[in-house]
Amino acid sequence: MSSALTKPRLLTGDTPTGQLHLGHYVGSVRRRIELQDTYECFFLIANMHAFTTRSHEPDEVRSDCIEIVRDQLAMGIDPNKSSFVIQTEIPAISELTYLFAMLLPFNRVMRNPTLKEEIKVKGLGDTYSFGFPLYAVGQTADILAFRAQSVPVGEDQVPHLELTREVARRFNQMYCDVSDQADDADHVKLGGVFPIPAADVGTVGKLVGYDGKQKMSKSLGNAIFITDTEKQIKKKVGKLYTGRQSPTEPGDPNNVLFHYVECFINDQDRVAELKDRYARGDNIGDGHIKQEIAEAINKLLEPMRQRREQYEGDDDTIMDILKSGCAHAIEVTEETLSLAKEAAQMKFFDREVRYR
Ligand code: ATP
Ligand code: MG
Repeated sequence: MSSALTKPRLLTGDTPTGQLHLGHYVGSVRRRIELQDTYECFFLIANMHAFTTRSHEPDEVRSDCIEIVRDQLAMGIDPNKSSFVIQTEIPAISELTYLFAMLLPFNRVMRNPTLKEEIKVKGLGDTYSFGFPLYAVGQTADILAFRAQSVPVGEDQVPHLELTREVARRFNQMYCDVSDQADDADHVKLGGVFPIPAADVGTVGKLVGYDGKQKMSKSLGNAIFITDTEKQIKKKVGKLYTGRQSPTEPGDPNNVLFHYVECFINDQDRVAELKDRYARGDNIGDGHIKQEIAEAINKLLEPMRQRREQYEGDDDTIMDILKSGCAHAIEVTEETLSLAKEAAQMKFFDREVRYR
C-alpha cells in the first residue's frame, strides 16, 4: 500500500461497444502492461459512454463490460497490481462531468476532431443524443477524477486529452489561484487540485482495420478480435486489399499490407527483406505475405488464448476483481471530488460512499 501511494497514477479505458481487438493491444494495452509495475493503474470500462450509441441494448453493454475485463486479463494485465473500474459505479465521475461542463464552451467541445470523425464514420447524422458530445466532457472527468498523470491511449484520443488538459488548467487557475503563466508540471506544487495529464500514445497510434480504410474499431466491423480463431484471422487478413496483380509486380512497401507487417512481424531483418523484395516485385505474392502476417498474429494471440481460458465462464471471479477495483477507485475519486468541491466552494458536508 505504501509503495502504491508513492507511485504516479495512470488512468485509461475502453468503451464496452464490443470486445477488445488488436488496435487496443498495440495502441494502449501493451503500454498498460509495461507500466503496471511503475504506476498505480486504473483501467476504466466506460459503460455510460457506451450508451451514447447503445442505450437500446443494455444487456450487451453489460456483458461486454465483463468480456473487456477478461480480454485484458488475457492480454496480461495483473488484477493484483491494477484496478478495473466500472464507470457507472463511480459517482464522483458524474459529478465532475457536470462541473467541468460548466467550464467548457459548448463550441469548444463540438470542435473536437475525434467527435466530428465519430459522427461521420458511425453515421450518427444529426440525431445523436445530447449525451454524445457530453461524453467528451465526461472523459475529462474520467481522467481528472483519478488525478492521473499518464494516459496511455491511441492517437484518436489525443484531442480528448487536450480538452482534459485545458479543463485541468482552467480549474486550477480559477479556483486554486494557480497563475496562468505556470508550467503544466508545476500546477500541483502551486496548489492546483489537478495534475495536467499527458497522453502516452503507443508505438502504433492507429492500427488500420482490415477494410484498409478506417481505424480498426469495434463499431465499424473491421476489427480482428483477440478472441478470433486462427481461421477467422486468416479470413480477415485475407481481406487486406492492395490492388496488386502478380508476385512480380513492384509493390508499395507503405501499403496496408506492410502496415500489418510492421505492426506484427517482430523480426526486423525479415521485415526489411519482405519490403525489399516487394518493392522490386521479386516473386513475392500478397497471399504469401498475408500468411506470414496471420502466423505472426496467431503467435501473439496464442498465450492470450491460454490465459483467457482460465477465466472463461467464471463471471464470479471477474465480479470480485471489479468490486475490489471499484472500491479502490471510489476511495481515490471521492478524495478528488472533495478537494474539487472545496476549491469551487461547492462543498458543505463530508460524505462517505462505500459498498455493502
Ligand atoms: P468504438 O468503435 O466504440 O469507438 P474503439 O474500437 O475505438 O471503439 P475504444 O474503446 O474507443 O475502442 O478505445 C479504447 C482505447 O484503444 C483508446 O485508447 C483508443 O485510442 C485505443 N484504440 C482503439 N482503436 C485503436 C486502433 N485502431 N489503433 C490504436 N489504438 C486504438
Ligand atoms: Mg473509439
